[in-house]
This record gives sequence, C-alpha cells and structure tokens, in this order.
Amino acid sequence: MAELTRRDFLKVTGATLAASSLAVLGFTPQDALAEVREFKLARATETRNTCPYCSVACGVLMYSLGDRAKNAKGSIFHIEGDPDHPVNRGTRCPKGAALIDFVHSDSRLRYPEYRAPKSKEWQRIGWDDALDRIAKLLKQDRDANFVAKTGDGLTVNRWLTTGMLAASASSNETGYITHKVVRSLGMLAFDNQARV
Ligand code: SF4
Repeated sequence: MAELTRRDFLKVTGATLAASSLAVLGFTPQDALAEVREFKLARATETRNTCPYCSVACGVLMYSLGDRAKNAKGSIFHIEGDPDHPVNRGTRCPKGAALIDFVHSDSRLRYPEYRAPKSKEWQRIGWDDALDRIAKLLKQDRDANFVAKTGDGLTVNRWLTTGMLAASASSNETGYITHKVVRSLGMLAFDNQARV
C-alpha cells in the first residue's frame, strides 16, 4: 500500500475542503461557467424574435450592442434559442443555429431595390417608394385581369395573374390578416415561405 505523507494528506484534504466550501456557497463549476456567460450578455440589448427559416417558427433571443438610442448603431453579436418559447424551449436546428451568419452576410438584402426594365443595375429605393410601387402595380394588374364571372355566367371573383408569398415568421394575427387581404382581393396563388 502506498504511503501517504503528511504533505500529501494536507494537499488532498485542503483541496476537498476548498471544493466543498465553494459548492456550499453556490460556486460549482457549472454555476461558474453560467456566470461568465451572463456577464458577457449583461449589458446587451435582448430582443425576442422568430427564426425566419421554416414553419416550425422557433423563438430566438438576439443580443445586440447599443441601447437603441438615436445615435447608437446596434449590432447583433449573439443569437440563441428562447428557453421560454413554447415551440422550441431554447433549442434550434443546425440551420437556425447559424442565424448570426445570415444576419451579417454581405449578400443579405437589407433594403428595397428596383431594376428598371432592360437594365442590369439594381438601384436602392426607399420603403415608401417601394410600397407605393407595389400597390400601384397590384391595382393595375387586378383592374386588367380580375375575373368576376366565367363565360357561362358563373360568379368566380378571381384574380389569377398575381401571387403572394407570405412570411413563415409572422405571428398568427399577421397570418390571419394577410390571408383575409389576399383572399378578399380574389387572389388564388397564395403560399407561404414555410413550404419553400
Ligand atoms: S431553428 Fe430550425 S426548426 Fe426552428 S424555425 Fe429555424 S429552421 Fe426551423
């Protein structure tokens, strides 16, 4: 049997005592790791959102620098699953786990762009201009192509020349209103990004 010197005995008992005292005080290794993480996010702005990738619509928490003051430029630096969200309870699939790369991707479309007929160039336009243009073109197309009755007199009230793709990350309420608007216009080609 190996001999235990007085020095070894003091080392072992001292380390055990220190570890158990820390555990009693709540400083277990897990707690210590959690504390570091909380510290990293403590001064960040937390925003709840929904993963845009599929119809599961997992809840996510996004952490950004900046306090939303007018002259402060916010920047998202961390995204994780929302533990309070009833759908995913804090989890995300690999695609959703890569959301931060999508947010900061150079090729991400961040504002409306317009390409004139026969042009190769896209030009940036404002949201008001984009929405006005969409509304104008929708009306033009509907006025020209709306079918109230078929040739044999059957009422159909349909509009087949324009379609709409709704967003999967919308809330139930947004989805309900979107559906009402689209169907009340007579539009039949209606689908959701969740199926793409
Ligand atoms: S995290 Fe994955 S499963 Fe959840 S909404 Fe995003 S893509 Fe869908």
